[in-house]
Amino acid sequence: MKLAILSRNGKLYSTRRLVEAARERGHTVRVLDPLRCYLRISSDGFDMRYKGKPVSGYAAVVPRIGTSITRYGCAVLRQFELMGSYTPSTATAIARARDKLRCHQVLAAEGIGLPATVFGDNPDDTSDLLAMLGPAPHVVKLNEGTQGAGVMLTEKLSASRATIETLRGLYAHFIVQEFVAEAKGADLRCFVVGDRVVAAMRRQAAPGEFRSNLHRGGSAKPVRPSKAEAAMAVRAARILGLGVAGVDMIRSKRGPLVLEVNSSPGLEGIEAATGIDVAGAVIEYVAHVVVAGQHKRNVDLTDS
Ligand code: ADP
Ligand code: MG
Repeated sequence: MKLAILSRNGKLYSTRRLVEAARERGHTVRVLDPLRCYLRISSDGFDMRYKGKPVSGYAAVVPRIGTSITRYGCAVLRQFELMGSYTPSTATAIARARDKLRCHQVLAAEGIGLPATVFGDNPDDTSDLLAMLGPAPHVVKLNEGTQGAGVMLTEKLSASRATIETLRGLYAHFIVQEFVAEAKGADLRCFVVGDRVVAAMRRQAAPGEFRSNLHRGGSAKPVRPSKAEAAMAVRAARILGLGVAGVDMIRSKRGPLVLEVNSSPGLEGIEAATGIDVAGAVIEYVAHVVVAGQHKRNVDLTDS
């Protein structure tokens, strides 16, 4: 199979591991920087070039699209889809997953457990908005934050209000959630490939920190998710249309709650914590779908 990894940097751990896993399995693989792909769109067909040369014949593409280039990266990925390449996560699904607010609406509508979440635009409504949520502490999150940056714990109502005012002043989009204290700074990252959780880790926040992200100093251990947790992770990824996803969950009194679904989940933390060849699982899944020819039905242009 001729495979492209769409990634800005071939030296990144996740990119390197995907290349390695593909080569080990006898595939031809190339890393393409999405920002160097340029496109021709016409009703006669779709073309793409890369550093002066045509890009064609890729059976599949594995997207690794960072949040800073979602728009351009998704346009390139969509062009691959239109040119007949299979991708485990479509451009539409990635764009959908990047918007936390939208994700929460879509997942909640399907009965996936989530922390109660509010958002509103007008400063005059802040008091009532927070009243809809319940008493502090609250968690305020930038709508498109990642790696724990942009996630704030406000222990008092006055802090929630001040944080919201500050973010509005900066024209930032945000959501506000109930704080799930019983999670005690731990979360569960389930790495979903297709219809199963191929690896999972429990991340524990550093002392004095509530965010369990490894980038915020959290530590990770392998974990076996319960049946209900694994099923919820797979269902959340499927609802958003992601064939590869990192589903973050916390354990609450009322069962597992999904915090977010990452469409380009990192491989370094999860492979180090679990010793599982996650890159291999991704490549094998992609090859399996391509060989089965299921991807002909894969183009997803219905929303953005
Ligand atoms: P990011 O995209 O930045 O990783 P998350 O929504 O995953 O944002 O939040 C980062 C971390 O903060 C989570 O992994 C979890 O440990 C903690 N956290 C987030 N939301 C809540 C919440 N509502 N209650 C308790 N802890 C939370
Ligand atoms: Mg997260």
